[in-house]
Amino acid sequence: MSANALKQLIREVPDFPKPGINFYDITTLLKDKRGFRETVDALGEHYRKAAPVDIVVGIEARGYFFAPAMAHALGAGFVPVRKPKKLPYTVRSIEYALEYGTDQLEMHADAIEPGQNVLIIDDVLATGGTASAVARLVELLGGKVAGLGFVIELTFLKGREKLQGYDVFSLLQY
Ligand code: AMP
Repeated sequence: MSANALKQLIREVPDFPKPGINFYDITTLLKDKRGFRETVDALGEHYRKAAPVDIVVGIEARGYFFAPAMAHALGAGFVPVRKPKKLPYTVRSIEYALEYGTDQLEMHADAIEPGQNVLIIDDVLATGGTASAVARLVELLGGKVAGLGFVIELTFLKGREKLQGYDVFSLLQY
């Protein structure tokens, strides 16, 4: 399936969740049996050639749609990054800047063993603030960031600039 065919499966919703934001709705891709499979296969293909991945980290919430399938495809484990106060055991947190104010993400303190190769997955790379915070959190836990993978990259927001030094891969660019 070509990139253009995959793009046809992604619904663009103008002015959601607020005026001026063009929202890339991947639920229409997920429900398409061929589109979903080929998205996971194409992302997986990029990492199968690289160093073996031990853990695939998915970012709440839409990263969860893809990360466990990727973990299955790569023979890796899956670890969720969650919004604050959701994880039951001891956590490590990271705070990161939003357009207005700050936000926080958490992982279980023992989710990653020192030296494990960790692939971070989310649906959309926008400004890169979320992904770079997650990369720092993985490193705080002793993991090695093997790469950051996204279904969609909004190139005009230059999120890659916040992720310099990492292997950043996206399937579809807008
Ligand atoms: P950022 O930290 O700016 O890179 O934002 C990334 C997070 O926000 C991802 O988890 C995306 O799911 C979500 N996101 C940002 N912009 C969009 C958009 N235009 N359409 C869909 N999701 C978005």
